Amino acid sequence: MHRGAIAEIDLNCISHNLSLIKGITGRPIIAVVKADAYGHGAIEVSRRLIKDGVFSLAVAYLEEGIRLREAGIDSTILVLFEREGLSHIIDYNLTPVIHDLDMAKRLSEKADKMGRIVDVHIKIDTGMGRLGFQVNEAFDSIKRVLDLKVLRIKGIMSHLSEADMADRDYALRQIREFIRIRDLLQDKIEGVVYHIANSAAVFSLKDSYLDAVRPGLALYGYSPFPDPDRFDVRGLRPSLTVKTGILSIRRLSKGTPVSYGRTFITARDSLIAVLPIGYADGYARSLSNNGHVLIKGRRAPVVGRVCMDLTMVDVTGIEGVREGDEVVILGRQGDDEITTREFAEMAGTIPYEILTSLGGRSRRRYR
Ligand SMILES: *Cc1c(COP(=O)(O)O)cnc(C)c1O
Repeated sequence: MHRGAIAEIDLNCISHNLSLIKGITGRPIIAVVKADAYGHGAIEVSRRLIKDGVFSLAVAYLEEGIRLREAGIDSTILVLFEREGLSHIIDYNLTPVIHDLDMAKRLSEKADKMGRIVDVHIKIDTGMGRLGFQVNEAFDSIKRVLDLKVLRIKGIMSHLSEADMADRDYALRQIREFIRIRDLLQDKIEGVVYHIANSAAVFSLKDSYLDAVRPGLALYGYSPFPDPDRFDVRGLRPSLTVKTGILSIRRLSKGTPVSYGRTFITARDSLIAVLPIGYADGYARSLSNNGHVLIKGRRAPVVGRVCMDLTMVDVTGIEGVREGDEVVILGRQGDDEITTREFAEMAGTIPYEILTSLGGRSRRRYR
């Protein structure tokens, strides 16, 4: 038995989600594959997305971009958050997002020395409060970037902070600010792609589509909305199933404590399955006495504390259960399904964190 879990990724689901998003927005897609494609594997996912005709890829940091280049991926790769290693950015022909004038100047000096022209995108902070030129300085700063002749502005972007929430006002305000800046710049620069829409905006804010959309989560098949009924995302197909196998089955008599701290004591003679997965594998400790897994199409509750490498589940009453049997941690088995949303709620977090921690630490298999 191997430790941890196996992540099965269905690339056809990702293709399907991409064409759904293309159909809804009618815009070129900048596919966000940061954090190893949200735990789905950036190289394999990117290869498929490129085959399906995305406009660009986007990663968080330099190393992720280099990894894709070294795997032979030669499409445009936006690097969203990097501020260092600028000569490598140029070497690997990556497209950095500029957050401030200091970065623009340092990049321009490097490009000058290397005798290169570098394509860049510019980030404007319309209200996320994270990175980018503040709205009031954006116009002047972008004019100064334009003066740096070796940088070629190919895109201008911003990021929404609550496009997933029921209240639309703040997101609409951010979009309006962004459009206002676009209108100011319109006759100053040509051939620039303006983009602000994340997954939530794709499914709920038509005004945000502009020249391109920039989804992450929805490409992998998951809804960004905490309220499942608010916006229609029914077309999305989850691409990830996480599985493991039963390491050991033990018969424990009534009154036996299970795992650290004796937080669970059997209330009857019980059959307890030990699973080779724990918080070191991304199976959150907050699932202690709280989570469920699927075995033979039935739900088995987590009993006692999740350990570093092991987790116990109660399989009493599940007919014919054996060591080595398949355990579904996330996804469908038989008629039942543990959705990423449900899993995230059990663990007290959001789907994004579940995918990156669980998907990111499992051995992967592609379909
Ligand atoms: C992560 C990220 C996205 C994608 O967000 P989703 O909610 O996964 O669609 C888009 N833009 C930026 C700048 C991001 O950091």
